[in-house]
Amino acid sequence: IQFKKLRLTGFKSFVDHSELLINTGLTGVVGPNGCGKSNLVEALRWVMGETSAKQMRGGEMDDVIFAGSDKRPARNVAEVGILLDNSDRTAPALFNDNVELQVTRRIERQKGSLYKVNGQDVRARDVQLLFADAATGARSTAMVSQGKIGAIISAKPQARRTILEEAAGITGLHSRRHEAELRLRGAENNLSRLDDVLITLE
Ligand code: ATP
Repeated sequence: IQFKKLRLTGFKSFVDHSELLINTGLTGVVGPNGCGKSNLVEALRWVMGETSAKQMRGGEMDDVIFAGSDKRPARNVAEVGILLDNSDRTAPALFNDNVELQVTRRIERQKGSLYKVNGQDVRARDVQLLFADAATGARSTAMVSQGKIGAIISAKPQARRTILEEAAGITGLHSRRHEAELRLRGAENNLSRLDDVLITLE
């Protein structure tokens, strides 16, 4: 999967619709302090399914929506879209019929956010797994944020392992295993309840 284009509307300081073409290779973003460089990276994380408020500079979910300025009123909706090239057909089965994937996440004040892929509603989980899988492989896209290197050095062993697993692209597999285990436990509960019913019938 290749990232092709990022679109933002009403996201943080990007109040007007903005588009950013992402070519293959290294992408650099330059500009004066406060011009929105970090907000761009946050938009990327956000559309990829970031849910931890701590990882998003800001805190509350609605903080990603343009909060207004001296000249312009606040917005009630923010939307970020990322266009993906899937011509190498590496997307998960659910999405793999499409050569291009347009992933969008939209948030409305007080109403939470919704995800779509090529116009169809999808779960946050589907989008998170799409990107977790896309991060697998040696030449995959990686985002290394400021402070991450320091964090690796000073992290406790368990936390360091999580960071390295993320880098190795196996976090997607872990969360799939976790989901499968939860389903298995649910099925076991159902079975034992069924046993109880059978005993009372006998
Ligand atoms: P630096 O190099 O200082 O880190 P930067 O280019 O990375 O700067 P950002 O941190 O991305 O800049 O942008 C910060 C700007 O975005 C600030 O001016 C801040 O007021 C604005 N901003 C952040 N969130 C919102 C919001 N929800 N609504 C309006 N403006 C916002």
